[in-house]
This record gives sequence, C-alpha cells and structure tokens, in this order.
Amino acid sequence: MIIITESGIPQPTLDALREQLEARGVRTHVSRGTDRVVVGCIGDTAQLDAGAVARWAGVASVVPVRTPYRLASRGFRAAPTLVPLGDAAGTMIGGRQVVVAAGPCSVENPEMLLETALGVREHGATMLRGGAFKPRTSPWAFQGLGTQGLALLADARAATGLPVVTEVMDPRHVDLVAEHADMLQIGARNMQNYALLAEVGRVRRPVLLKRGLSATITEMLLAAEHIMARGNELVVLCERGIRTYETATRNTLDVAAIPVLKRETHLPVIVDPSHAGGRADLVAPLAFAAIAAGADGLIIEVHPRPGEALSDGEQSLTLDAFGALMTSLARFAEAAGRSLAADRRATKVA
Ligand code: PEP
Ligand code: MN
Repeated sequence: MIIITESGIPQPTLDALREQLEARGVRTHVSRGTDRVVVGCIGDTAQLDAGAVARWAGVASVVPVRTPYRLASRGFRAAPTLVPLGDAAGTMIGGRQVVVAAGPCSVENPEMLLETALGVREHGATMLRGGAFKPRTSPWAFQGLGTQGLALLADARAATGLPVVTEVMDPRHVDLVAEHADMLQIGARNMQNYALLAEVGRVRRPVLLKRGLSATITEMLLAAEHIMARGNELVVLCERGIRTYETATRNTLDVAAIPVLKRETHLPVIVDPSHAGGRADLVAPLAFAAIAAGADGLIIEVHPRPGEALSDGEQSLTLDAFGALMTSLARFAEAAGRSLAADRRATKVA
C-alpha cells in the first residue's frame, strides 16, 4: 500500500501517520517530492483498510500495490495450474488440450441422461454436465431431481467413464455432491455465497466457479481466493456471460475476460456459451470466439430433444448440432495452437 499525503503535510502529522501505520504492524518508507510525501507500507497490511486509511489526517489518497487476490494471482504462481479430474482417462483442465463438458441443463430422468451422455461422448466430449440441484429464478419452475439426480449422474459416469460436473447450492450438500461428482459447480447466483465457497474449499474435489451475473473479474478472482484460502487450489473459472443493457442475448459474453483472466491468474478458464447467449444458434459462434480468445475449455448444454427439456431448452443443442460443433471446434482449437481433448471415438476404433 502506498500513501500519498496532502500537499505541505506538517512534520508532526507525518510522524503521527507513520506511528499509526507502524502500530498496525507495517514498516514505513518515506519518499519526499517537491510538494508531497509518499509513504510506502512494507509487510503485512492485513490490519490496514485502505478506505479507512484514506480518512486519516494528512492523507490525500491510498494506492494498493498488490492485487487483492494472492493465491489466485500470476505473481503467486507463474505456471498455469493443471486441474486433474481424477478419471481413468486422466482428463486435465488447463493444459494444451481444450476440454469440453456437455450434457443437459437438468438431469430429468435416467433414459435422457444416459442417451445424452453416450451421445456427447460419441461426439468427443470429455466431461458430462448436468444439474441435480437447480437454481431456478422461479420457485414454480422445475427445481431438479436433487439427491436422485446425483445418483443418476453417478450411474451415467459408470456407464460412460465420463467425469461429472454438477452444481452444489447448499453448504450442507457439499459432501453428498462430492461423493457423486468429479467436480463441484458453483453457479453464477452463488459466486459470492461465502459460506458455500468455504465448504467447497474444504473438500478434495476440483471446483468450477462460475462468474456472478454482475460480478467484476476482480470479484470472481476473490471468490476463487475464498476457496483456495481454505486449502482447495483446484479451481477452474467459468465466464458465462454477464448482465448488461443488451436484451438480444440472455447475457453478454465477456470475451475480453478470457485474456484478462489468463494474464491475472494461473487458474484455468473455461467458457459457457449456452448461458451466455441463451439461444442454440449462438452457441457455436460464441464457442469459437472463446477458443480463439484462449479459453481452456467449454461447458455446453445438450439435450436429445430440446423441445421437451424441463429447463433451458432454447439454448440446448441437439446431439447432431453438438457433433457438428465439435467437428468445427477442432479446427479452431488447432488454429489457437491447441487440440480438443482425446476423442473417445478414436479410442474405440483403435
Ligand atoms: C447451469 O450451468 O445450469 C447454470 C445454472 O448456470 P449459471 O449458474 O451460470 O446460470
Ligand atoms: Mn442451464
């Protein structure tokens, strides 16, 4: 933290300022300009609130020098973090390979889940998504199958070998969801639910942290920091569109957030083009843009019959549309110096 004093600060005020700072455990370093004095604070500034210090006598402004996030910052770890999902295929997020998670918005019944899981695997998806606990805006909308949905996801994983990512909404469900899933999703609406972040920070399961509807990039990184500070460093960030004044799309995909995050953090970044655009025809162009901008993966909603979906049918791809997307995506990945994570069709043929 750097403190810029008011012009012509009297010496006794400057001395008092330094004493107050040092009483809070930091060392101070003074540089004198022609008019103002700059006080640098060295050491642990945890006891100093920049907004409060700005109100102290003689202080003109306070400039934080460090990013507010530490564990998540590039400064803390320069090399990209690789997040392993612990499945037999060794799926890893954050490396050269682009990982695609696909599946329904909600787990609806055993047949549709298995049909979707087998279909997306056939088209090269390396993860299965599906919501058992659904955060719905309306309490009258389908809320998900809950615990029964988790069991169905575990069955689909057993049948396909695909690791599963599913949302946890309640701190009391974290252990239960962790028993059934390979990755815990924190939904956009819960990005700043600090009690929930603390609980997922306690378990040994990778976390998919989605950006809040109106969250800044710094707020998202601080949410990741909450998880990491509890000991779980396996966090994957997800840009899923933010609220803007635009109404033509469900949200506005913040493409620039991808390179900004890649610069700021060592954590992997994936993109959800389904919730960003809100319409099936927007999924492919947004997915291509995400890969071009440096995303490490995608999470895409797929339903065998979108017209029958219990949630998010408008933005869900059919299995055929998903297959076509994967074919085109491979070329974008290649152009970006990446490749799509191992295609299981190739494994099957061999
Ligand atoms: C979802 O992935 O189904 C979901 C609810 O997403 P979000 O939290 O980004 O709205
Ligand atoms: Mn959805």
